[in-house]
Amino acid sequence: MRASDVSAAPATGLSAQQIDDLRAQYGWNELPRQKPPGPLIVFLRQFGGMLVVILVVAALIALALGERVDALAIALVLLLNAILGFVQEWRAETALDALRSMLSPHAIVVRDGQEIDIPARELVPGDLVVVAAGAAVPADLRIVSAMEIRVDESVLTGESVPVDKSERGTEDETLLFAGTALVKGRARGIVTQIGQHTCFGQIAQLTGSVGQKRTNLQIRLGKLAQQIGIAAISIAALVVVIGLMVGRGPFEMFMTGLSLAVAMVPEGLPAVVTITLAIGASAMARKNALARRLQAVETLGAASVICTDKTGTLTENQMTATQIWTHDRTYDVTGEGYDPKGHIETGGKSVRASDDLTLALILKTALTCTHASLHREGEHWTMIGAPTEGALVTLAYKGWAPPVSQADLISETPFSSERKRMSVLANDAGRTRLFVKGAPEVVVERCDRILTHGTQHPLDPSTRQHIAGAYQSMAAQGLRVLALAIRDTDGKDTSETNLTFLGLVGMIDPPRAEIESALRLARNAGIRVIMITGDGAITAAAVADKIGLGTPDLIEGHEIDTMDDGALAERLQDDVLFARTRPEHKLRIVKALQSKDQIVAMTGDGVNDAPALKQANIGVAMGIRGTEVSKSAADLVLLDDDFSTIVNAVAEGRRQFENVRKFVRYLMSSNAGEVLAIMVNLIIGGPQIFLATQILWMNLITDSITAVALGLEKEEPDQMRRPPRKPSEAILGRAGFALIVTFGLYTATASLWIFYTFLPYGVDIARTTAFTAMLIFEKVSVFAFRSLTRPTTTIGWFSNPILVIAFTISVSLQLAAVYWPPLQTLLRTVPLGIEHWSIICLLAAPLIIVPELAKAVRTHRTPKTEGA
Ligand code: ATP
Repeated sequence: MRASDVSAAPATGLSAQQIDDLRAQYGWNELPRQKPPGPLIVFLRQFGGMLVVILVVAALIALALGERVDALAIALVLLLNAILGFVQEWRAETALDALRSMLSPHAIVVRDGQEIDIPARELVPGDLVVVAAGAAVPADLRIVSAMEIRVDESVLTGESVPVDKSERGTEDETLLFAGTALVKGRARGIVTQIGQHTCFGQIAQLTGSVGQKRTNLQIRLGKLAQQIGIAAISIAALVVVIGLMVGRGPFEMFMTGLSLAVAMVPEGLPAVVTITLAIGASAMARKNALARRLQAVETLGAASVICTDKTGTLTENQMTATQIWTHDRTYDVTGEGYDPKGHIETGGKSVRASDDLTLALILKTALTCTHASLHREGEHWTMIGAPTEGALVTLAYKGWAPPVSQADLISETPFSSERKRMSVLANDAGRTRLFVKGAPEVVVERCDRILTHGTQHPLDPSTRQHIAGAYQSMAAQGLRVLALAIRDTDGKDTSETNLTFLGLVGMIDPPRAEIESALRLARNAGIRVIMITGDGAITAAAVADKIGLGTPDLIEGHEIDTMDDGALAERLQDDVLFARTRPEHKLRIVKALQSKDQIVAMTGDGVNDAPALKQANIGVAMGIRGTEVSKSAADLVLLDDDFSTIVNAVAEGRRQFENVRKFVRYLMSSNAGEVLAIMVNLIIGGPQIFLATQILWMNLITDSITAVALGLEKEEPDQMRRPPRKPSEAILGRAGFALIVTFGLYTATASLWIFYTFLPYGVDIARTTAFTAMLIFEKVSVFAFRSLTRPTTTIGWFSNPILVIAFTISVSLQLAAVYWPPLQTLLRTVPLGIEHWSIICLLAAPLIIVPELAKAVRTHRTPKTEGA
């Protein structure tokens, strides 16, 4: 039997037993995952770089010339380097892999008569699935009912114009294919094929790709490394030529040139950046911000504006209807959340649907015009559907409204953020009625009657004003207000005009708990927060004020329509807030802000938010209530939908960038010292200060562990009190350059001095001391690079344990290099005595003491104005 032959489930969906049987037969709804590279591949990848190739060639040449020890030393360094690279890259790979699996899609399915939300991989053929606008189709489905659906099938067909589908028509018209997305309407369908048997599965492998593309920083640093690499090789070649001309031996010169090149080429840089960003992405994910691209980690740190939705991001999206207004009376509603244990009260008395016709019709509309449903789990009530609708259903339960049979529903014109209303045509006690709910501005203007005292009256201007007043006073309390209306029809007329107004329902949506502090944090970090909501102006202003956004200028969606891009960009210079917007306004707002050089993070959840999310520098989708379409357009997915998570992610992004900067400066200054020492020594004309293998040892083995450890530094306390960095800001900067030169000059001079001081006692001991001195200098100077402003005494010597471990490993390796006979042979070292160590320690001390003192003095002088 083919999966498509499974008989269609009845309206109640499959039962638990059927699901188990089908699962046993067909397996999981997933595509065989693209296998991540195995450990062997990752290990072999370590031998791919240009430098490694040069070194392999060098080892072969050394071997050919009979220099077996050198050849072996190079081979050993290469092997150790590959092992370290492997461990780090493997960590990054597994971190990214864990992130990928967090992106798994969900599906709404009807099982045992209940709509439930499950991971899409749990679907089996025969399942009854519900898909709504914005959802990715989770498996191949045969449509059983559809409400005005349009489907974006571009993944399969390449055709970007969405197509109409329905339960009737040709085979293609009645099928929804996995991987495509519903852009409009709502449908139910029976799963015909799952996993790799779906059309999509046969064409391609669906991969939630994380971090495939290189980030700007990686590209910039890659370029920098390349430029330095070319310069290094040219200089090395020049040195070799000059050396040969002044009569030095060819092998000695070859090894010197090689060591110079190795000392200068910052090959490890792009790899260290990738590892740091990947580790950063994991840290963000632990704080509920899932970076879909590594670029997000980096760009977030530079974000200068966050444009955010109101509902669900700034607020809880936990709607509870608290007031009902009709022309005859107002009602208060008690109870919380989706628990229907509350009352509708008027004048202190509890009332029910049966007590008042208008109230009965309001509650009937609430139950008819909805896709939300309440479910009881023990004492706890849960809701599936949109919170606005959930609140209305709960309200109807509180008023004891009789249930609405699905069989009475005829057709629906769905809600969309553009239409701001929704209507359902249904049979109601022997007649056909259109039930409408939506934003008051939109619904009331479509009404020409009003129901008062059980009869319908024309809606005159003064009554309209009366309604507008009631709407205003509810909205001014920050309530979301919906108007409800009906029209009796004969036949199938679904036009939302000539309606009879029933009343207004006001619902509260409490601000998120930590919203005020998150907004303050953003403000202190120089980041503007712009609220963009589909809700009404008065509600928006009231909520903005309540959560601490102040009272910015309010711009309504229809005003944006009349502005050109220039005018919009100008208005955006001021403190503003947008209300009654449509999704396409977001795209214009992002572009206008970008035209003023802002780095924009934009949130979105709906299917139509995707273009704005793509355009924004950081598109932020909502993990819980966001549509699959918005998630796949975003760079960052908030697993908890919470605004504070964006601000935390910005902090994390800033930390990552600062850390990248710290280790770039550190690596460069280490290399600068070596290069200077080698060059000056060449000019002086003395014997080689460091052997090629020793330079390899310093650069490849000990540097990258220390650099990665620097990448794990905690955030600077003033990090969120500085303005956002400019994206064009140099990675090194003037301060960085000065540091590199200063450290380079000092370590080069000190090691040369050591070399020439001990040279009279033999070149081996002089070289070993200089080599060890340089390594120790590099290792101790790492503490200076942990912060440009704070002394380590403030940061804590042990507050970055990995750095301490890296330091200990590096120094231990050097001890082994000097005292362990096999390494002594390979690196041509001799044991050092106390007199050598004392000089090394003495000269290393200033590398710790001077930066500490300088920072302490600076902090003392300018306690509040730290800055990198
Ligand atoms: P925000 O943009 O702050 O997240 P939102 O996304 O909830 O707000 P929309 O969903 O665009 O905004 O809703 C706009 C308006 O449409 C609401 O203010 C409300 O009046 C109305 N509305 C919202 N949901 C429904 C619904 N399910 N049925 C009918 N009308 C609705």
